[in-house]
Order: sequence, then C-alpha cells, then structure tokens
Amino acid sequence: MNRVDYLRISLIDRCNFRCQYCMPEGTELDYILKQNLLTNEELLTLIKEVFIPVGFTRFRLTGGEPLLRPHIVELVAAISALPETKDLSMTSNGFLLASLAQSLYDAGLRRINISLDSLNPDRFNSIIGNRGRSQWQNVWNGIQEAYRVGFDPLKLNVVVIPGVNDSEILDLAALTIEKQWHVRFIEFMPIGNNELFTGQGWIPSEELRQQIRSCWGLTESQVCGAGPADIFKIPGAKGTLGFISQMSECFCDKCNRMRLSADGWLRPCLLNETGQLDLKTALREGVSMTTLREQLKELLTVKSEINFKQRYSGTATGNYSRTMSQIGG
Ligand code: SAM
Ligand code: SF4
Repeated sequence: MNRVDYLRISLIDRCNFRCQYCMPEGTELDYILKQNLLTNEELLTLIKEVFIPVGFTRFRLTGGEPLLRPHIVELVAAISALPETKDLSMTSNGFLLASLAQSLYDAGLRRINISLDSLNPDRFNSIIGNRGRSQWQNVWNGIQEAYRVGFDPLKLNVVVIPGVNDSEILDLAALTIEKQWHVRFIEFMPIGNNELFTGQGWIPSEELRQQIRSCWGLTESQVCGAGPADIFKIPGAKGTLGFISQMSECFCDKCNRMRLSADGWLRPCLLNETGQLDLKTALREGVSMTTLREQLKELLTVKSEINFKQRYSGTATGNYSRTMSQIGG
C-alpha cells in the first residue's frame, strides 16, 4: 500500500461561484451550519495531535472556496509554522486572490492551484453560473498577482467539458509557453452534476494530448507536487501540462491522500462514503487523542480496499450524496 501522508482539508463548503460541473444551479445544497464547522483551533489540534503523529506531513487547503474562510491568512500561518509541515498548498477559484496573494505568501503558502476553465469571459461567466457581471477579470488578476508574488509552482486547473470548453484546449495549453505556469486538464467526473455529465460525457486525456502533440509536440516532464497528474511539456515551454485522468486511467493504487470535510468528517477516498470518521463530534465529546490516532490508523487500512473503479464501475452516472464543493475537491 502507498504511504498516505497527504491531507486535503476543506475549510468551508460555501462558494462564491456555482460552477456547472460542481454546484449546478437549482441543486439544493445543505450548507454546513457555522457551529458545525471545525474551528481553527479544532483543526490545528487535529493536525498536531492526530494527523502529524500518524505520519501526515502535507496539507492542501480547499473548499468550497477556501478564501471565503474567515482568518484564512492566520490559519495558513499556523499550519505552515508547524515544524512537521513539509508542504502546504491551496486550491482556489482565484476570485479573491488579487488582494490576498501577498499576505498568503508572507504567511508561508508557496503553492497554489487556481481553477481557470476558460479564457473567454462570457464562457467563463456561464461556467461559473454567474448571470451578472463577468468575474473572469478578477480571477485573471488573481493569477497575475500570485505569479508576481512568487507562488511556485502556480497551477491552473481546467475541468474539460465537451461542448463547453473543449474548443479552448490549445489556447489554455499555450499559456505555458511564455510563463512558468502549469496548466492541468482534469477529466470531468460524475460528481456534482450528473445531468451535464450524462449529456456531455467526458474527454479522455489522451485525446487532449493528441491535439496538443499535433500542434507543438509534447515531451514528458515533471513538476513539484504533481500528485496523480501525468506531466508533459510543449518543447521549449517554460511551464508544463498536467493531465488528471481519473476516468480513463484508475490511479487508486498510487493514492496517497485522505480528505477532511469542513464539518470534520474524514473520508479515506473521494468516492467512499462509508467508513468515515466524525472527528468533530469525537473532539467535542472529549474522545482522547490516543483513540483518534488509533481510529485513523484503522481507517488507513480500509483505504487500501476501496478504489475508484469499484465505486464508479463503468456506468455513466454516479450517485454521490455530496458534491465536490462539499467533499473538498
Ligand atoms: N473552489 C476551489 C476551486 O474551484 O478551485 C476549490 C474547490 S473545487 C471543489 C476543487 C477542484 O475540484 C477544482 O479544480 C474543480 O475544478 C474540481 N472539480 C469540481 N467538480 C468537479 C467534477 N465534477 N469533475 C472534476 N473536477 C471537479
Ligand atoms: Fe466553487 Fe470551486 Fe465548486 Fe466552482 S469548483 S463551484 S469555484 S467550489
């Protein structure tokens, strides 16, 4: 079994966007009540007393939109100051990043992934479910500011949806030529919007690579914190291209992560809704840290028995009770 040392921490299930593939309009989402969110203090206790002693040293802050979490800069500073923290990163939609990038960097954050599904402001607007003013420019400003401040690697996440943004693959890939940006194409998963998934399906990463290869060529490459992505490079480009192919190539045997939801549920796998631990309740009921560490070790053994293919089993739709924004994608 792989060493599991990486925890994705959802800080909040709310978001200022409603991306079609994640929180489609019309979906009723039961937001976590404020009193049920793990507090910063509880989160830090769990990291220090439970996760680190069991071997977790790498943490990613996500959501919902993590930059909506009150006191986010202080939280980043506290986690990055722990001597055992080897790596701290964040996944954000970038909307609030222009004003926060410098403070986050100063607090110790060095790696950030920003979602950017389109370079076309109108299309972007429709993807994020905003019928008002386009938010694309704010996100673009956030990306530029994160780059200026020195985030490295700076990764741009693109969920590829046929008929929505697949016409932009080459334009998005071209961003890596002049700047040291790392564009990652993610296969659309049947979590969050089954209707869109069933209607449009998903595009295998290899098809995208073929497009890019026939335009510029493609060589294998590497980037820090690549996780499950296969990394390539346009010859001579400053940045890289990553392909996250959880639909076409099951990479469960390489998985090194667990996910903690904003209300303290620890799930061993993105798609596993059984065998989770309710760490918030345990903490509030005074369960000892020794017991929690033992329960976490036990959960690590369950993790190796589940895999994406078993859960997904090749059908076009899945039936998951939580969206990516709730799980912490
Ligand atoms: N709000 C932040 C953002 O959008 O980057 C962080 C949370 S979001 C749930 C984390 C990642 O999950 C994003 O890169 C998003 O594109 C991805 N995601 C959400 N729903 C997805 C789906 N159905 N299939 C594939 N990726 C998805
Ligand atoms: Fe919000 Fe991120 Fe989900 Fe989009 S993908 S709705 S930005 S949580």
